[in-house]
Amino acid sequence: RSQDERAGKIPRYVRVNTACWNTEDAVRSFISRGYVLSGPFDHPKGFAKDAHIPDLLLFPPDTQFVEISFYREGKIILQDKASCFPAFILAPPAEKGTVAIDATAAPGNKTSHLAALMKNKGKVFAFERDRKRYATLQTMLSRAKCENVEAVNADFLTISPDDPKYSAVTHILLDPSCSGSGIVNRLDHLLESDGADRYLIAIESESLEDEEERLHKLASFQLMMIRHAMKFPAVKRIVYSTCSVHAIENENVVKEALKTEECNAGPFRLAPRNMVLPTWPRRGLPEEMDSPDEAASLVRCSPGDDATNGFFVCLFMRVTGSPGSEP
Ligand code: SAM
Repeated sequence: RSQDERAGKIPRYVRVNTACWNTEDAVRSFISRGYVLSGPFDHPKGFAKDAHIPDLLLFPPDTQFVEISFYREGKIILQDKASCFPAFILAPPAEKGTVAIDATAAPGNKTSHLAALMKNKGKVFAFERDRKRYATLQTMLSRAKCENVEAVNADFLTISPDDPKYSAVTHILLDPSCSGSGIVNRLDHLLESDGADRYLIAIESESLEDEEERLHKLASFQLMMIRHAMKFPAVKRIVYSTCSVHAIENENVVKEALKTEECNAGPFRLAPRNMVLPTWPRRGLPEEMDSPDEAASLVRCSPGDDATNGFFVCLFMRVTGSPGSEP
């Protein structure tokens, strides 16, 4: 199937930003603007609530939102469904003591999702190494009314896990640069959010390199990022995600990361399926993992087929106490 055909099967997703709005009011507001709660493909102005992600709404694929006030006021965030999985799976508690890191934050969709899930309590450190994308991140965070986020223009790999500033970090979201091979509707989707054009250009210019070699380079970088995250002394949960469909950047990286030995506070294992979107049917590739259970603990999205862009996500949890105990 062509890229356009796949893109046509992906609704336009709108995440209600619960930092400053709620889904009931959002639904009422859309209905008062002529929308009908009937599903995104059943009516030209049809919309629906998502079955997996709370506060996510689905609209017909060509719906435009940038001009409407809800978008400008930060009440809605335009974010593909699969890209809502990482923060939802990480599930940082909405408590004063929660400290999280978004290691690769710009343009900031997942950071603002974390802030909303945490009800603006606790603290999120959001790292972005690129100066221009960092500026986009700041704009996004202020529009989305993220009050518990400290954005830092720095390379996550240069942040010392022993720095007392980060000694209480328990949750890390890691969504590093990837091949972007799962994105089928990026032109109309990503260009709508500020600064995404720069992200797109980066992907295009990279694709001049030999594909296989490029994927292996990305995979070594992704593995380095996971290993760095595992060094933070109090971290209990790390979500790793990509918008790639390649096992090289997904299952293979995860398998290597599970062999990491240098974690002083204890090794990590994959959280089981029942903690990682259990009702989502498409899971990791069994032939790439050591056991069917391991593959089942991974989440995959196939571009278009799952009404999302292509995506991969998993949750690492620190093994503490006796084998099998929950951190
Ligand atoms: N999570 C973001 C969102 O949902 O809006 C998208 C992140 S994008 C896939 C990856 C970002 O990580 C890029 O903006 C890139 O500049 C940044 N990045 C890559 N390596 C980094 C590093 N070592 N430290 C901090 N940021 C990094």
